[in-house]
Amino acid sequence: MPIRSRTLLLAALGSVVILWPAPAAAQPPYTVLIKGGHVIDPKNGRDGLMDVAIAAGKIAEVAPSIDAAKASRVVDAAGLYVVPGLIDLHAHLFHGTEPDAYLSNGLTAVLPDSHSFRSGQTTMVDVGGAGWRNFGQFKTNIIDTSKTRVLSFINIVGSGMKGGPAEQDLADMDARLTAMRILQHKGVIVGIKVAHYNGGDWNPVDRAVEAGTDAEVPVMIDFGGHVPPLSLDDLLNKHLRPGDILTHMYGHVRGRYPIVNEQGQVEPYVIAARKRGVIFDVGHGGGSFLWRQAVPATKQGFFPDVISTDLHTGSENAGMKDILNVMSKIMNLGMPLKDVIAANTARPAAIIKRDDLGHLGVGTEADVAVLAVRKGDFGFLDSSGGRMKGTQKLECEVTIRAGQVVWDLNGRAAPDWSTMPVVPQGSSALPPRRSQPQK
Ligand SMILES: [Zn+2]
Repeated sequence: MPIRSRTLLLAALGSVVILWPAPAAAQPPYTVLIKGGHVIDPKNGRDGLMDVAIAAGKIAEVAPSIDAAKASRVVDAAGLYVVPGLIDLHAHLFHGTEPDAYLSNGLTAVLPDSHSFRSGQTTMVDVGGAGWRNFGQFKTNIIDTSKTRVLSFINIVGSGMKGGPAEQDLADMDARLTAMRILQHKGVIVGIKVAHYNGGDWNPVDRAVEAGTDAEVPVMIDFGGHVPPLSLDDLLNKHLRPGDILTHMYGHVRGRYPIVNEQGQVEPYVIAARKRGVIFDVGHGGGSFLWRQAVPATKQGFFPDVISTDLHTGSENAGMKDILNVMSKIMNLGMPLKDVIAANTARPAAIIKRDDLGHLGVGTEADVAVLAVRKGDFGFLDSSGGRMKGTQKLECEVTIRAGQVVWDLNGRAAPDWSTMPVVPQGSSALPPRRSQPQK
């Protein structure tokens, strides 16, 4: 029998007692109210002091002032920035324990929930971990079990990013089967990845573009390892379509031309590719972000379209660290905060054609990050170990996923401990576990 039924029957001393509780006070309409913060919501053109109210897991109201009495929980965001939940367009999340499986059910990939919410991320995109053959395993083991919304660019290699010879096997790169798998999971598989191929031909790129055209998704290219290097100009201006993505934009690796040439200039063909709609992604990783590329490129105005991590065990404790550290680097290079936020919200959402993500429109699922911009004397490492000084650094105070507070660094969304009821641990009086949000 429900506890809140209009009548409560108790068998007491052999007789039935009927209790008529007083009518409960009306519940406030909003479950969470984020109050007093500076909202940056690039897609909806918001950039100023505003309150954000949440009800039933969705954004319910965004307005200059919303009465705190209308919410059962208030987050004080004074002095902070309130932004859409961040999207990481390049991470490696197909964690597993298969021996020698690298980023495809292997130990080099990481679990999304261990990294996402503490950095304000509510959506992470695994790029290339799974191929058409093993996407089902990735979905069952990782996508369906994570509180983070996990999406996928599947590898053009059917067995995914297993490392070594498997990623060189042209016989396992099938455009038709790749497109079929995408169409089975449209909206969850949002792109195709090409990586690590070191042959002297264009087959992997061209097959990925063929599959991407059939399934109407973008491709992301991790280029390099070709000795002698293949033409980056041809990749960007002949093989890729507008909306396709070059990742590791500030890298300089063996077997790939960098975007800044030996004269310190951004290659004219790189600028031409951006003009025709090719997307440039940071994809920092363990070896793909050099100040010697990023500083001259950004001085010439060549900032990223998308700021992503390339998160895996080789980058999480090195110069990359987490998405806020990478975003902080780009801010210290001169990109305005609102553009940095756009590069991690509205822009990646548009690229993967998930218009429901990356903004705070009323009625959308309530994925929100509350960020602080710390001022001070900071240092940032690149992937060669070089340091650049900086004066500002992002930190995540609160993350909300589908209306639930999933990260709260300083307990801003919590009541003072002394007001908490005395409830023994494990008591059934504790709130039930919440169900998984939709992907
Ligand atoms: Zn990667």
